Amino acid sequence: MRRGTNSLEVKKLNRNRIFRYVHSQSETSMPDISAALDISGPTVLTIVKELKSAGVVEEVGELKSTGGRKAKAIASVRDVRYAVGMDITENHVGFVYTDLGRKALKHERIRKHFRNEESYFREIGELLGEFVARNRIPEEKIEGVGIALPGIVDRQKNILNGSHVLGIHEVSWEKWAAHIPYPCELLNDANAAAITEDVCCKRPESNLVYLSLSNSVGGAVIFADEMKSNEGIPAITDNTTMYMGNNWRSGEFGHMVIHPEGKTCYCGKKGCLDAYCSALNLAELEDGNLRAFFDKMESGKEEYRQIWDEYLGNLAIAVDNLRMCFDCEVVLGGYVGNYMKPYIGRFQSLAAEKNIFSGGGDYVRVCQCREEASAYGAALYQIEKYISKI
Ligand SMILES: [Zn+2]
Repeated sequence: MRRGTNSLEVKKLNRNRIFRYVHSQSETSMPDISAALDISGPTVLTIVKELKSAGVVEEVGELKSTGGRKAKAIASVRDVRYAVGMDITENHVGFVYTDLGRKALKHERIRKHFRNEESYFREIGELLGEFVARNRIPEEKIEGVGIALPGIVDRQKNILNGSHVLGIHEVSWEKWAAHIPYPCELLNDANAAAITEDVCCKRPESNLVYLSLSNSVGGAVIFADEMKSNEGIPAITDNTTMYMGNNWRSGEFGHMVIHPEGKTCYCGKKGCLDAYCSALNLAELEDGNLRAFFDKMESGKEEYRQIWDEYLGNLAIAVDNLRMCFDCEVVLGGYVGNYMKPYIGRFQSLAAEKNIFSGGGDYVRVCQCREEASAYGAALYQIEKYISKI
């Protein structure tokens, strides 16, 4: 505990720890909480009472007795709050909603071409309203809407600094909020997808680099809390934090140069990873249909097999660089990540050839959530923020 922490802060911390403990169990009891968290019985009793009257914890019967009086079973209330996430892309909008249980309760993807016009933002508000109504999400329980965007987002000011993919700059959250009756928060799409990976795959608390291979290449750096360098960084969960950089531009892995004097990237530089490993490199061979690329390669199209081999070779350079920088797990996500599963063994061998340390290539793996990971992460972040305030 930090020096100078006063009793009110201790109480707040204990309240949050107790809620998180209850929330991590399907059901538990006050003696169990007391033992697990080393907090006195009377303090647990007082705090559980408060959490019950706040509606976030409830009694759910009695635990099986091991002799003596049966303890009351308590559990967290999962549907006390909901959050919706949206993923705005050039041609689609994705929706996901979740509750405190953190499962994606529904995901949808709707074709909608982005236009920087008032009517577009109004239509997005209408689509969101229809999604909420169709899924009967109680409006009064919606904590907020997370909006994932393919660009640099200043999370403090809640504005999109710029998006090459959407062709816009300096767009505030208010553009969306004007047509959405819930609090709105903007997030970078790769950061949002990394949140999904962090929260959902229940990996042991550790550092992680997420590499998003979509129509642009981006990423995110997540580190375990003991490495937190200052207190201004927004936490993702009680265990992990995302490194955002000084200007909200961390994780722009797409513009790491992998071939000096190589292909020209849209950013103007030569040889950027994005120019070689964006999903467009593959999808554009099939009119934007990435699945068709993989289907045709699998059915024996030799030209595609060679293109894929080159793609993996370039990706291995980048992944090895990330490993050298961060010395942690590297997760492949985004559109291409969704198709990587059958090829990951081969890719790990390519990564292992470059690894100058022990351990081979098993530090790189495929993302676990393959459906609307960015929209899902944007929703999860709203839920994590709610939990951190309990
Ligand atoms: Zn570039």
